[in-house]
Amino acid sequence: MARTNGTSAPFLVSGGGIGGLIAAYALARQGFPVRVFEQSPEFREVGAGIQLGPNIFRVLEKIGLKDAVLADAHRPPAQEMRDALTGKLITHIPLDGAFIERFGQPYAVTHRADIHGTFLQACQGSNLITLETSRRVDGFEDHGDHVTVTLENGERAQGCALIGCDGMWSKIRERIVGDGKPRVSGHIAYRAVLKRSEVPADLWRPDVVLWAGPRTHFVHYPLRRGELYNLVAVFHSDHYEEGWNAEGSKDLLWKHFQGQRPEVLRMLERIETWRLWVLCDREPVKDWSQGRVTLLGDAAHPMLQYLAQGACMATEDAVVLAEKVATTPHDLPGAFKAYQQARYLRTGRTQIMARVYGEFYHARGVTAELRDMAISGRTTQQSYDGIAWLYGGP
Ligand SMILES: Cc1cc2nc3c(=O)[nH]c(=O)nc-3n(C[C@H](O)[C@H](O)[C@H](O)COP(=O)(O)OP(=O)(O)OC[C@H]3O[C@@H](n4cnc5c(N)ncnc54)[C@H](O)[C@@H]3O)c2cc1C
Repeated sequence: MARTNGTSAPFLVSGGGIGGLIAAYALARQGFPVRVFEQSPEFREVGAGIQLGPNIFRVLEKIGLKDAVLADAHRPPAQEMRDALTGKLITHIPLDGAFIERFGQPYAVTHRADIHGTFLQACQGSNLITLETSRRVDGFEDHGDHVTVTLENGERAQGCALIGCDGMWSKIRERIVGDGKPRVSGHIAYRAVLKRSEVPADLWRPDVVLWAGPRTHFVHYPLRRGELYNLVAVFHSDHYEEGWNAEGSKDLLWKHFQGQRPEVLRMLERIETWRLWVLCDREPVKDWSQGRVTLLGDAAHPMLQYLAQGACMATEDAVVLAEKVATTPHDLPGAFKAYQQARYLRTGRTQIMARVYGEFYHARGVTAELRDMAISGRTTQQSYDGIAWLYGGP
């Protein structure tokens, strides 16, 4: 049965990506009605992989979705970093036995469409959630005791509150934080997904492998129970393009990876069409709620992908937000403040540390030697200690 929260109106969610869907589901599990507005004609994710740290499974377990996400995922036995010029192993971090003992949750990699599909199915199974496509949110008004949003087609919708889950280029953030366009990092990611049969047998690895090169890195790992193989090549470039689905030029890629190990080049050669992402983030902020309006996921704290945490953080946000709303359902502005208070230092730290990891992966010369010296002698437990602030949360 639907709970009330001062008004009987639903929560309005702008954006039906990973963050928007999981926010809707977490709120509905607490008994609140939700309307999700997605601008695209269908709910979908781009074709690429995503890594899931143990912290996402801790919150997914709370809302009963852990097993469903793991069902389609691949569980890599280890994470490995190698020098892209010499092939030398820099680190090898086991992700099975000792890892699960330490963090109490697994590490997994999955196709974005699979985790997004799991969240979508969960939402479709709830009679408290209404999912609406081809609905672009253009503006909103906070009337003190309710909100209205204006859609691109001129329609208006009324709700008890608005959650902006509209990603990196969020319209809702423009009004709440007003910090302009995202910061362009000068790094570009090219991505592709191959069928397992398209990967040369001697190159297929069950692990998450990262080849660190000067101002580049290349990551690969299996997806969808091992049936697919995900490839992401990152390099420094001034190219800028908004959105997440433009086609990338092969020549530009080759220019940056010249001289790297044959294992890297042979894998890059397999790809016919690359899609590119221009990587952006923002400075962390602590105030992303105003009255009955708040932000979640990339709209609140967009980060570079070097810690593989944007979707994990959006999922953590959703579960914390729903808990705070359930604690003070008659004071939504208070619940939103409590939510951001619980989240901003953790998400801000992740935004900043993601930049540091990017520098670290792309190091050259003496900096690269120092990096290798600092981390190659670590024991497995020391490697776990280094990331415990992140994987041990939220
Ligand atoms: C190269 C790369 C690799 C990554 N790897 C990882 C990883 O391994 N692990 C991890 O956890 N994260 C990773 N991330 C980060 C992760 O992809 C994002 O943090 C996550 O997708 C953010 O989800 P979101 O729902 O907040 O935003 P988005 O996924 O951007 O979703 C926003 C949604 O809102 C819709 N929308 C936008 N504007 C409007 C509007 N006005 N009205 C209605 N709808 C609107 C959009 O169409 C979209 O569906 C990676 C990112 C990149 C670029």
